[in-house]
Order: sequence, then C-alpha cells, then structure tokens
Amino acid sequence: MSEVSMSVGENNVSIRHNWNLKEVQALFALPFNDLMFQAQTVHRQHFNANEVQVSTLLSIKTGACPEDCKYCSQSARNKTDLEKESLLAVEKVFEAAKRAKEMGSTRFCMGAAWRNPKARDMPYVLDMVKGVKALGMETCMTLGMLTEDQAQQLQTAGLDYYNHNLDTSPEHYNQIITTRTYQDRLDTLGNVRTAGMKVCSGGIVGLGEKSVDRASLLAQLANLSPQPESVPINMLVKVEGTPLENVDDLESFDFIRCIAVARIMMPKSHVRLSAGRSAMNEQMQAMCFLAGANSIFYGCKLLTAENPETNQDIALFEKLGINTETVVDETADSDRVVQTAISDQQHSDLFTNAAL
Ligand code: SF4
Repeated sequence: MSEVSMSVGENNVSIRHNWNLKEVQALFALPFNDLMFQAQTVHRQHFNANEVQVSTLLSIKTGACPEDCKYCSQSARNKTDLEKESLLAVEKVFEAAKRAKEMGSTRFCMGAAWRNPKARDMPYVLDMVKGVKALGMETCMTLGMLTEDQAQQLQTAGLDYYNHNLDTSPEHYNQIITTRTYQDRLDTLGNVRTAGMKVCSGGIVGLGEKSVDRASLLAQLANLSPQPESVPINMLVKVEGTPLENVDDLESFDFIRCIAVARIMMPKSHVRLSAGRSAMNEQMQAMCFLAGANSIFYGCKLLTAENPETNQDIALFEKLGINTETVVDETADSDRVVQTAISDQQHSDLFTNAAL
C-alpha cells in the first residue's frame, strides 16, 4: 500500500494545503476499489453519507458573454443557437426562488453571463440577494470577476456563497480561455474571501485535458487556504457550435475518480456533482455519491445545459435512501431549521411541477 493511501485512511484527517502533483497522481492511480473505500471513509468522518445538499440554479442573464470560454454556449464568440436574455426582473427571480424552496432546494444560485458586473447592474443583483435571503434560503451568485468593492457590497447584501470556477489546470487553461487569466480567477476568489463570503469553486473535466491536468486542477483547489466550501465537478456538456463539440468523451471511471480524489483532498467541502448529470445513468450517479459527492442542482437547466428533471432526482434519492440536507439559519434567535427534508406533499408537487 502506498504512503498516500495509508495516510488518507487514518481516522484523523487533517486539511492539507500543500498537495504536490505526484501525491495527487498517486491517488488517481490507486486501484478503483481502494480509492472508493478511502473516499467513502473520509466522507463519513465529516458528513452524513446519506444526505445530499440541494441547490437550484437560475440564469438571471443569458448569452452574449464577451468571454471566449471554448466549452460555453453563452460566449458571443461561439455559434450556438442559444436564446439570449437580458437581466431578469427582480420579481421574476423571487418567484423562481420561492418555487425552488417549495421543491426542497436549500440554496438558490443566480448566474449571469458577464465578464464582470457593471456598476449599473449592481443595484439589481443586490436587491435579488436581499429578497432571496429574506425567503430563508442560502444565496449564491456567479457573475464573473469581482472587484474587492463589489464583493463587499454583495456580502453586505447577504450573499452567502460566490461561485467562480478555476475551470481546468493552469497548464491546460490557455487552450480553453484566453480573455481572462488564471490569476484573474484567483484574484476574484481572494476578493470573495476577503469580503467574508464562502467560496464555491471547482472545474470542468472532459475538456480534452490530460489526466495530469485533472490532478493539477484538484491540487490548485485543495491548496487554496481555506479550501472552497463547495467544489463543483462538472462533466463537459458538449454544445454544438462550440470549439469543443467534438472533443473525445471522458471515460466514466475517470470522472468518478475525480470526485473521489476531490473528496479525499477536500474532506470538509461539499463536492457537487454538477453539469453533465443528465448524460449519467442512475448507477453512475450513485457511484459518484459513493465517491463522496454530496451536493447537486435540482431543476431542468443548469444555466443553459440540460439537467435531470427534478422528479427523476427524487426517485433516485428514494431508491438510494438519500435525504436532502437541512440548513440551520445561523442568524435566527435559536437554531431554526429553515429547510427540512422533502415532505410527501412536496414529492407529489414535484411530479406536476418539475422544472423552474
Ligand atoms: S463560462 Fe461564463 S464567462 Fe465564460 S463565456 Fe460562458 S458565461 Fe461567459
């Protein structure tokens, strides 16, 4: 048994921020069953293994993005048939958030296809944060790059999480995006931390990267201090009209390995099984939960990519005996649980009202 495999199997897992590439590659190279066992062991030390946190993601401004992310249907440089939408009215966002809450989501994420928010956009997004927060949900936004001042404004309005992915390894990055640098991304994550918000940051695999790039991406994420509270691992959804539409598929086991290695390296983070889920069968999703994924998005769209219908998710949770994670409102006088596991009534509602 390798040194790495022994150290991660111990009971007292400390959080490390000094992972080197060789150690991460050694984890990826473990026999599959050993890797899964270690990931599940780490997972159970920090989480209820039968609970999954559930978020809903709403696109509040769609398409016409000036950035050149080669995987993205929303880039103005990619010739996709996406319908563009300008910034949604604040009331529409509140309606969507209420429905998401009724359907069992504990966190409402709002995403805008911007390079960065402009000064004229800020009053609207701040109102969105305040209104969704007032519903008793956790709030998350992804708006592109943020200045220190914008991050502070969002935190003051009540934003809990900010999502900004590293996307891929620093080595593969220039093959995927040229209009902002890796350091720009790290700077935004730094501004989010300085403002006192939680960080949601992960990446996309299946971008034509090598396996060493997947190890390098996870090393970047794990070596952030503190580590991101939420780590979305996305499987590329190939979109016609993007430069990556014909890239080779990633082997399913390589994706599951990514989840397991992320779980081992970031033991206290929620690892989110994110885009690409609609192409995964139930057995593959179950394997991802076993590898330590404990967060998903509900709803039929992930920004613009397909996501499994909510009722399918509920059916899968029932088959696996998984409950949705509860959220405690730390701002309340007592520990008031603001969102409980989905009730039978909500289950039946989901079958008639499945998508946002
Ligand atoms: S991933 Fe985000 S920043 Fe990149 S093109 Fe798409 S919407 Fe724009």
